[in-house]
Amino acid sequence: MPHYELRCRECNKAWGNRPSSICEECFSPLEVYYDYEAIRPRISREKISAGPASMWRYSELLPLPENYQPSLPVGFTPLVNAPHLAKQIGTNPNNLYLKNDAVCLPTLSFKDRVVAVALAQAKAFGFEIVSCSSTGNLANATAAHAARNGFKAWIFIPADLEAAKILGTQVFGAKLVRISGSYDQVNRLCSQIADEHHWGFVNVNLRPYYAEGSKTHGYEIAEQLGWRLPDNVVVPMAGGSLITKIKKAFDELVLLGLVEPKKVKFFGAQATGCSPISTAVKAGNTDIEPQRPSTIARSLAIGNPADGHYAIKTITKSGGWSEDVSDAEVVESMQLLAETEGIFTETAGGVTLGCARKLLKSGRISPEETTVLSITGNGLKTTDALADKYEVEEPIAPRFAEFEAYLQKTLDVPEVVEA
Ligand SMILES: *Cc1c(COP(=O)(O)O)cnc(C)c1O
Ligand SMILES: [Zn+2]
Repeated sequence: MPHYELRCRECNKAWGNRPSSICEECFSPLEVYYDYEAIRPRISREKISAGPASMWRYSELLPLPENYQPSLPVGFTPLVNAPHLAKQIGTNPNNLYLKNDAVCLPTLSFKDRVVAVALAQAKAFGFEIVSCSSTGNLANATAAHAARNGFKAWIFIPADLEAAKILGTQVFGAKLVRISGSYDQVNRLCSQIADEHHWGFVNVNLRPYYAEGSKTHGYEIAEQLGWRLPDNVVVPMAGGSLITKIKKAFDELVLLGLVEPKKVKFFGAQATGCSPISTAVKAGNTDIEPQRPSTIARSLAIGNPADGHYAIKTITKSGGWSEDVSDAEVVESMQLLAETEGIFTETAGGVTLGCARKLLKSGRISPEETTVLSITGNGLKTTDALADKYEVEEPIAPRFAEFEAYLQKTLDVPEVVEA
């Protein structure tokens, strides 16, 4: 007997383990439940620390088939402090951290974590074809992990994704289906396909297992802080799953006695052009009003987030808040993060930092508390967003005299004196 199974989040009915994401009795989402008493004697800080330098060090807390042998090291990305950024945005340089999934392997976003768990179950359920609806990063991750694990992949995306995310799916030999419509329309189509074809859709019929992979982002934050929880986390939201799973991860660590209990405030981050969750939080609503997305933060452009209701609950019950920022603020924050800490994040990271700055300014985040910003994707995939921001100068000849003349000219430019 595995030590986990699917149960309905609302009516609590148990459904065992199967490729399904919705309770057939009440149509609420299914969630993986664990037998923590069975897990407790098998887990300790020492055992985890002695494990592999990847998210598989937390395998006891993931829904994996018995004796599952992972084919790739995924996760265990750096948690770095951010003193230069902290000074720029007015917070204590000792207390600001970046969880850097811009360098998550193999495809440079936190989606590698979720796909790794979903495909473990896809294998157990006997799927030969795996699939997803995606705003880009999930497409890359599903295609890469499918190649590595011997699945065929069919990937569905809205037609207007960034070029790097399209190429970064095709290169793995996946079949890429572009849909002329929004992500929400792509996702609805995928639900219909999943009903008719025996395919493993990582974020549709495998969604409860997929979502558990996000917990490892949270476990790592706690372990890398020296087995303690932060005061605040700021998390970008698309479907709203990641933020709820960081909370689940922290709660599990407390339950299992691996960290001291602490009240952690959860802050959600969205782009103003697609902000159904932050709009609801600000209005005091507990449910989502779907939006039609229009933002450069395409990875977050989900107008009708599947876990929106639960993300709102996570945020408001924790005493946190949700913010949103304009596309211009997204770009400015991408540049600020790169210039201060040497991290090139994608638009979603710009959303996170932009919202953190607003939350500091409004006093919702205190500068003296420990705050972790979730940086979830890599800037090389969204260079489109910076296309008009930098000029490339004419080349100079490979001669010392040329360079000296160039240097002189550069130094001679008078500094702009502000009036
Ligand atoms: C998918 C994604 C998110 C949000 O994840 P959800 O769990 O859907 O809220 C955040 N950042 C990046 C870069 C993503 O690709
Ligand atoms: Zn139910």
